[in-house]
Amino acid sequence: MSTGSESSAPLTLESRLAGVREGVADAVRDAGRDPSDVTTIVVTKFHPATLVRELYALGVREFGENRHQDAAPKAVLLTDLAPHWHFVGQLQSKKAKSVLTYAHTIHSVDRTSLVDVLASAGQPVDVFLQLNLTDDPARGGVDPLRVRELAEDVLRVDRLRLLGVMAVAPLDAEPRAAFARVREASERLRELAPHARFLSMGMSNDYREAILEGATHLRIGTAITGNRPVDG
Ligand SMILES: *Cc1c(COP(=O)(O)O)cnc(C)c1O
Repeated sequence: MSTGSESSAPLTLESRLAGVREGVADAVRDAGRDPSDVTTIVVTKFHPATLVRELYALGVREFGENRHQDAAPKAVLLTDLAPHWHFVGQLQSKKAKSVLTYAHTIHSVDRTSLVDVLASAGQPVDVFLQLNLTDDPARGGVDPLRVRELAEDVLRVDRLRLLGVMAVAPLDAEPRAAFARVREASERLRELAPHARFLSMGMSNDYREAILEGATHLRIGTAITGNRPVDG
């Protein structure tokens, strides 16, 4: 499949980063929003620690990873820097405590058993509740209509700071409509937890639509990093 991010491969990391920053700024302006309300997390999964280092030198501080076995050794190689690691992938309960040795924000909280493990870790954690916008339970994420039940579990634990909701737009859906569903779920959540106002949504190919629907945390990989060396 040919995508915009693939055709950008010949450019340098610096120019791809600049291109995305420009695209984000344009969308923020078109949405009439405040630039300081939108954070870009660069998803560096499957790329080596050296790439994270290059991005860090270009001013990036927010990084995303989706697999513990890939992220953990990288984080160890970068302890001389101060990156903020966001864990954005599906998280097995048995790995959750290990992920917290480097990640401060977990975007993929989708069940009570995982909340319980995070609660027992004894350190503050920022969490997003991941919504499943598909009919396939294997995709991970909680049914958007049940977001408040899961939020109640998080709110019972002082050390867990509920930031808001996270979602991936389904491949077969129009992204803007998918992101509108996330915004609606966010509104329902805020009736219960007014401070949990953040929306983690928008990737390389749909961040503009996400910004127009209120995204506050973009998770952008290939449009900045280039194609992933291995993926699977
Ligand atoms: C890989 C990944 C991204 C980034 O995807 P790109 O299409 O490369 O921008 C964002 N969110 C999650 C959960 C991911 O796994």
